[in-house]
Amino acid sequence: MKQLDLLYSGKAKSVYRTENPGELVIKFRDDITAFDGQKKDTLAEKGSLNAGVSTFFFGLLEKNGIKTHLIRKIDDTTMLARNLTMIPLEVIVRNIAAGSMVKNFPIVKGTPLDPPVIVIDFKDDTRHDPMLNDDLVFALKLATPEELRELKQIALQVNRVLRDYLAERGIDLVDFKLEFGKKDGHLFVGDEISMDSMRLWDKKTGESLDKDVYRTGQGDVITSYHHVAARIIT
Ligand code: 5GP
Repeated sequence: MKQLDLLYSGKAKSVYRTENPGELVIKFRDDITAFDGQKKDTLAEKGSLNAGVSTFFFGLLEKNGIKTHLIRKIDDTTMLARNLTMIPLEVIVRNIAAGSMVKNFPIVKGTPLDPPVIVIDFKDDTRHDPMLNDDLVFALKLATPEELRELKQIALQVNRVLRDYLAERGIDLVDFKLEFGKKDGHLFVGDEISMDSMRLWDKKTGESLDKDVYRTGQGDVITSYHHVAARIIT
């Protein structure tokens, strides 16, 4: 596998072509951002921590029969992934009320959500990722009714796998964001599943073990990421 030119550079990852058009190299950088990029830093080891947890979770999902873009981890900060046609949706699953849900709606932080709540945002930083509903998804031709049904079903399946896995390690999966892509008519989970895209709370102490540590400026986010990565990757 040979890494070729840069195809795309996001806020925390860079994507490179390879000599195989069906495969991409995804590099997790040490950059961290919050609030639509208004707060940003470069923190040593952040890329390798998120690459490690992401590839671990993608592997766990694959073992549970869920299709993901992971082909294999290449090194500490890079993975080889299937080249998907990405769908510009952020599919968020919430098990406990937090974040924008408590900011935007009259619900107390920490309220358990059973059944889990699925929220779908339009992935567009310039518009601040506005929330969609099913009709908007269809009107904007972002997914067909069948695809949306499948996206939600996969998201709930992912939730069950991750929630159970983390619960065994004393961690509450509060919420997380997935992105999906298509290849050969199938849906795959793409992007990343890391501390940058989930909320994780220690079951005993309630301590945040995710990007909220950075968002709120309480504590050292890399120390938290190290701690939680060691609990996840066993
Ligand atoms: P909220 O809607 O509360 O801001 O986010 C819900 C969950 O989805 C959180 O775990 C958050 O980290 C994740 N999330 C929402 N939007 C984004 C995004 O644009 N990028 C990343 N990496 N995660 C997001």
